[in-house]
Amino acid sequence: MIMKIGCECGAVIVDQTDYLANKGYIFGDKDWFNFWDIVDDAIENPSDKETREEAAMRVRKSQPTRLIWECRQCGRLYLDDQNHDLVQYVPANKKCNDILDR
Ligand SMILES: [Zn+2]
Repeated sequence: MIMKIGCECGAVIVDQTDYLANKGYIFGDKDWFNFWDIVDDAIENPSDKETREEAAMRVRKSQPTRLIWECRQCGRLYLDDQNHDLVQYVPANKKCNDILDR
């Protein structure tokens, strides 16, 4: 799926491949701990009825993260909110900080 975000600055953020330097995944603190509970449960309490692949899929399907993109031109951040609507944040230094690239 190709995702395009038209930034306020006029640039277009294109999301059509993996390993993007300006895309990330955000964990809220509650989601972080819930995610590790699911991982711990899959490891520590393997079900007789569930294969390893099914347990791995259960962890993957928990999808605790939300997406974030940074505009490479102006540094604005776009985050998915709880309803998958984009919320925009403007950096105080008004530049791209490559905040998601390390
Ligand atoms: Zn921009």
